[in-house]
This record gives sequence, structure tokens and C-alpha cells, in this order.
Amino acid sequence: MLHTNLSVGENGHLYFANVDTVSLAEKYGTPLMLLDEDRIRARMRTYITAMEKHFGEGSKPLLASKALCFKGIYKIAADEGMCTDIVSPGELYTAKAGGFPMENAYFHGNNKTDVDIEFAIDSGIGYFIVDNREEFDKISSYSAEKGIKQKILVRLSPGIDPHTHAKISTGSVDSKFGTAIETGQAEEFIAYILNDKNTELCGYHCHVGSQIFESEPFCDAADIMMEFSAMIGKKYGFYAKTINLGGGFGVPYTEKDPKIDYEEKIAEVASHIKNASKKLGIDIPQILMEPGRSIVADSGMTLYTVGTVKSITGYKSYVSIDGGMPDNPRYALYNSEYTFLIANKANAEKDMTATIAGRCCESGDLLGENIPIQTPERGDILAVLVTGAYNYSMASNYNKLPRPPIVAIKGGEDRVVVRRETYEDLARLDV
Ligand SMILES: *Cc1c(COP(=O)(O)O)cnc(C)c1O
Repeated sequence: MLHTNLSVGENGHLYFANVDTVSLAEKYGTPLMLLDEDRIRARMRTYITAMEKHFGEGSKPLLASKALCFKGIYKIAADEGMCTDIVSPGELYTAKAGGFPMENAYFHGNNKTDVDIEFAIDSGIGYFIVDNREEFDKISSYSAEKGIKQKILVRLSPGIDPHTHAKISTGSVDSKFGTAIETGQAEEFIAYILNDKNTELCGYHCHVGSQIFESEPFCDAADIMMEFSAMIGKKYGFYAKTINLGGGFGVPYTEKDPKIDYEEKIAEVASHIKNASKKLGIDIPQILMEPGRSIVADSGMTLYTVGTVKSITGYKSYVSIDGGMPDNPRYALYNSEYTFLIANKANAEKDMTATIAGRCCESGDLLGENIPIQTPERGDILAVLVTGAYNYSMASNYNKLPRPPIVAIKGGEDRVVVRRETYEDLARLDV
């Protein structure tokens, strides 16, 4: 099977984290999101251990909140010793409500408002990852008002194309994120910051993209950041203590995707950084990374109930389910590929090719096309694998569909960590 937390029981049912998915669908109803908590914790430990071992003490991963954000994930992250990055006041609020220590939180985003900045400083945010001068000025003036010295990193755009989908590539010069090294604007910005008394510059950040299976783009980014740090050090006497290489390691969604060993990739980046530091004659900085997808994606699964199965003579077959783009907009947004199977016939041959359609009044509401699948009937349970990242966090209530619950499985025990939305929830804001 695609991932080690998947198996088929003697009853022919799909098992996830050693639990029968068909019985979970019966117990909780569908659509249903499942999370393998043991696997999330194990993946966090892989990052923490590998980063400390290869980059040295003090180097650590930040959970990228945008991949999956609910109170309980912050309890897990805090338990395991992860830091976190947040990109909005809503994520900050959720982390805080989940008991996450704010000193280990980093505030991202290309357009933090004055209200956001005040809220974050009042909440005791550990670090801002500063995108631009306008927000820097506000951070500085509000820090002065509060009598604190706010720690910051500065987001740079290293000018790298990580060879992935354009919409999820963010490290190039022509981007809404960060300040470009190539144009000289980054140096100008750092010189400006170094004259400020209200903030403490700790180092630099970059993020090259997402769904990356090689260490090369990270090595290239590290080179550029280290060279920049050496140049600024020589000219202005400031050497970065911290370099944050962002997130982006990939996860296999289908059998076509490559497999990846995260520790091996981290070791490759680390050995590259060690060489660069020798060559440039600068110390190895503390390295941060911001994994999102590679922490939670393959720990998630979505279960739906099959409704209409429609074969249009001479055309395609459509398998319709009781969810769709509101709970998983990724196919509609990026044509993202997934693996599908009928959970109650998991051993049967995939003898049909179908388009998997959601229930919204929207032709683009699809989860996949040309999908090999066991011939389904109304009432069967359809499993979509690897939905832990950027599904729930991107979910909407389009067509007034309630968002599904999230059920976490730990040591073979299942429990609700986010309850199902009710119709009352849907109308709660209407006055
Ligand atoms: C999206 C994002 C991440 C997480 O990316 P993954 O591909 O999920 O690992 C980390 N850092 C920043 C700045 C991001 O925008």
C-alpha cells in the first residue's frame, strides 16, 4: 500500500492506523476526516531528531500551521517540542487557545495589518518573520510603545525555482513574498533594520516552494542565504544567528510520486551547509525548517459515502460522493492527484475508471478524473488517501455544507478532535 499506516483486513475492509475505516464511517457518519496521531508524532520526532543531529543543537522544525490548524494539533506539537509558524491572527488565536507557548511561535505573512501586529505583540509572540519595510516600521514603533525589544527574522527571496507547480512556488524574485536579494533591496532593508533600537534581528528566512522531493533547492537556497549573511557580516558586522529554510518537503499522494526519506534529505542539506560555512569562513547558524505537508499529509484520510454512480453511454462514468470541493478544494485549485479506493471492497480489483464528483452545483467540483477504482454502488465508502494537509485548513461551507469532523486515532483508539459542524453552526453568524 501507498503508506505503512494502510492495510486491508480479513473482512476486505481498508484499515487506517490499525482501525477498520468502514466501522469508523458507521460510527461517525461521512464525510469524515481521520488523523493518525501516532504517525504525526513520529514524523515530528523524525524532524526534531534529524535536525538536531545533522544541523547541531538549537536547530529545530516549526510546524507550518496553514497545513492543518485546530486547537488539538498545537497540544501535540507542544508535547513533541515543535515550534510553530502562524500566518494570521486566527491561526495565532487558535495556537494560543490550544495552549501553545507563544515564545515558540513565528508570525509569517506578506501583509500583516497594524491590528495583527499589536495582537501578536500583546500575545507575546516569539518572533516576527518580517516581509517588508511598512510592517517593520509598525513592529518597531509598537515594540517601543510596549517597552520590549521584539525578535525578528527577515524574509528574503533567494530567486529559486524549485521546479514545482507555479502556484506553490514562492522563492523567485517576482513574488509577493519577501524582499529580493538580487535587486539589492534586501541589503538596503537589512542596513535599515540594523539601525533600529526596538527590534533584535536574529537572521533570515526563505521558502522556496512545496512538494519538493530533492534536497537540491534547499541546498541552493542555503548557499544564497549564507553568501548573503557573509556579505552583510563583512559590510555591517552582523552575522545571522539563525537561517530559516522554510518548508516544502514532498509527500507521495499516488504510486507515481517518488518516496522520500526526510532524515536523509536533512543530512544532505546539513552537509552542504557545513561546506558552505567553511568556504565562506562563517559559523554554522541555527537552522530552522517549516514542514507542513510532510508532517500531516500522509497522516490524514477522508471517507465519503458513494451516492449516484452515473455512466454516460459513450462518455465517462461519474461517481458522486457526499462531500467534494468544500472539504477538499485541491483538485479544483491545482489539479492535485489523489489515490482513491472503496474502503469496504479494498481487496477487489480496481475494474473501473471514473471521475470522482462532489455534491456541489459546480461542474469543477471534482476530486479526480480518470481514476481507477473498484466498481462502487450507492452506500459504499470511498476513501481518499493522504488528505491530512491543506484539506481541512482550506475547507469552506460552499453550498452551505457543514465541514466534516476530524477523528484522531492514537494507539488504536479513536476520538473526536474537531466536531462536525451543525446546521445551526452554519447559520450562527446570520443576524
Ligand atoms: C506553505 C509554507 C510552509 C509549509 O510548506 P509545506 O510544503 O507544507 O511544508 C512553510 N513556510 C512557509 C513560509 C510557507 O508559505
